[in-house]
Amino acid sequence: CGIVGYVGPRNAADVLLDGLRRLEYRGYDSAGLAVRGAEGVQVVKELGKVADLARVVQERQMSGNLGVGHTRWATHGGVTEVNAHPHCDGCGRFALVHNGIVENYLDLREDLENRGVAFVSQTDSEVVVQLLAQIHQGDMLTTLVDLQKRLRGSFALVILCHDDPDGFYCVRRGSPLVLGVNDQEGLCASDVPALLPYTREVLYLEEGEIAEIRRGSARIWDQEGHPVDRKPVQVDWDV
Ligand code: GLU
Repeated sequence: CGIVGYVGPRNAADVLLDGLRRLEYRGYDSAGLAVRGAEGVQVVKELGKVADLARVVQERQMSGNLGVGHTRWATHGGVTEVNAHPHCDGCGRFALVHNGIVENYLDLREDLENRGVAFVSQTDSEVVVQLLAQIHQGDMLTTLVDLQKRLRGSFALVILCHDDPDGFYCVRRGSPLVLGVNDQEGLCASDVPALLPYTREVLYLEEGEIAEIRRGSARIWDQEGHPVDRKPVQVDWDV
């Protein structure tokens, strides 16, 4: 299981597929991408290898400069295309990828269904994006502080907001996420090898932290929403 997020001048799908290949050693059963292009956010998912996903991405000629990719190791819900990530909310406002396990997902799902939210997958992860859409009040930082308080378990989350063409958000508890930024690009990934073609200065997200990634910048907050000043770490090894 692995996650890659990208914003910058390159074709996002190429960067994401390359990053997912570099994370293949972590194991997975399906893979998917969400890329923001001229016509909004496009999502593709495939069972099997990143190479299979790459074929579909090429067929669809996905283009755009912002996106998120995921390899899934199914824990909740079978290995199906619908259960593969990214997951979206019913109103098409967010696309989300998740590594980890949300322990209280059944309670949350029942509560959301009672409010009329319709689910398409069996995953714990879809519960997170549907809940996010319900509690979102405009400000993403406040929303993510609130979201995190409602979730039990472990997660690395990366979130695209459909109305934000220039950046994406990360939340980390239990599962790893590392950020990488250079002059023109911003990235995140589950592990350093996916970042090395773009930068050797990485920022490790700590427990409970939230990040906003834009071209050339990463801002980090703690779980209460207080700004964190994190110094980059220089990576001096190769893969
Ligand atoms: N629990 C999630 C699922 O089964 C995420 C699994 C993962 O970490 O890849 O879809």
